[in-house]
Amino acid sequence: MDQDFDEFAFETRAIRAGIERSDQGEHAEAIYATSSFVFASAAEAAARFAGEQPGNIYSRFTNPTVRMFERRLAALEGGAACVATSSGMSAILAVCMALLRQGDQVVAARGLFGTTTSLLSQYLTRFGVAVRFVPATDYAAWQQAIDSGPTRLLIIETPTNPLSEVLDIRRLADLAHAAGARLVVDNCFCTPALQRPLALGADLIVHSATKYLDGQGRCLGGAVVGDAETVGKEVFGFLRTAGPTLSPFNAWVFLKGLETLSLRMRAHSEHAMALARWLQEQPGVSRVHYPGLPDHPQHALAAAQQSAFGGMVSFELAGGKAAAWRLIDATRLISITANLGDTKSTITHPATTTHGRLGAEDRAAAGITDGLLRLSVGLEAVDDLIRDLARGLD
Ligand SMILES: *Cc1c(COP(=O)(O)O)cnc(C)c1O
Repeated sequence: MDQDFDEFAFETRAIRAGIERSDQGEHAEAIYATSSFVFASAAEAAARFAGEQPGNIYSRFTNPTVRMFERRLAALEGGAACVATSSGMSAILAVCMALLRQGDQVVAARGLFGTTTSLLSQYLTRFGVAVRFVPATDYAAWQQAIDSGPTRLLIIETPTNPLSEVLDIRRLADLAHAAGARLVVDNCFCTPALQRPLALGADLIVHSATKYLDGQGRCLGGAVVGDAETVGKEVFGFLRTAGPTLSPFNAWVFLKGLETLSLRMRAHSEHAMALARWLQEQPGVSRVHYPGLPDHPQHALAAAQQSAFGGMVSFELAGGKAAAWRLIDATRLISITANLGDTKSTITHPATTTHGRLGAEDRAAAGITDGLLRLSVGLEAVDDLIRDLARGLD
């Protein structure tokens, strides 16, 4: 992290941390669209390759625009090191590939992002890594699973997708550390604007930058944040070897996204709270899942652990799948798309899209009912969103 930025507030870091200005004096960050970098001499090339002289060699290893994004995000999460990746999934893959070996065990929360669950259960297990899934908020089950093998990593999201369960980061970090394991937090839903897992004891943060860090639905990307040894050496070592690195253009888009992150996350949270309250009053809605509601089972924990409640709201319709599809098809404004964390509000039916590949049994265990809808509340006027949903509820 840029030591110079320690003294500045979050909003200031989000705008100014990590900038490396070239001798052209550009004010906005430059996009270094280059695959390789030239050396002044054969001796300099040899010194760079030998690691005796710092500097760029090839953009699979380092790129100045990507580095600006990495430094800025590290400054926001409060981590010593950050490496950017081509997607959120490749950030999770990089952590697993860098830190796990045959015979190790991973304990993960049930109800993780669907593709993360598939990566762990269908691919990691092929290489002799045991994976156990536990009910996200059952801490006795976490302890039991941790003790059942040589656990190296705990992997969680909080709040979870799509049911917005809130997990106690400090408690899970303590369980992990007591067993010599590390806690990995996917901080996609809150972003560092609302939640800093490293300060609560987590060891590693993974991000899908595709979501709120961009915030405007333009680019795929991801990142891993943590300590200098684990992230700066081990995870970076996998990335430079295997190649799922972030493109400089996407890094530039994310740099611009970070500049407005605080403002956007505050507005997403306000809009989501208003919609959640309104949904609770609608007769066809049997349940609303939003950590900001006082009757949410982990409301107090969310209030202590997060500085606001985020932009994701899910709700269940008493009429099941038919009612859910009818509501989706009645919208004219809200986009029917699986992306989230966009200025544009989006709606999905998890049971038949994001979580459709899970079997019916796994889906039921994860609490994904047929009447469940997930809203990513955007920045349009709340009254317009309410009118759009009301049409399908009538
Ligand atoms: C989208 C998402 C991912 C995967 O990110 P990609 O950028 O799509 O690869 C991982 N975790 C969560 C919580 C997500 O929402």
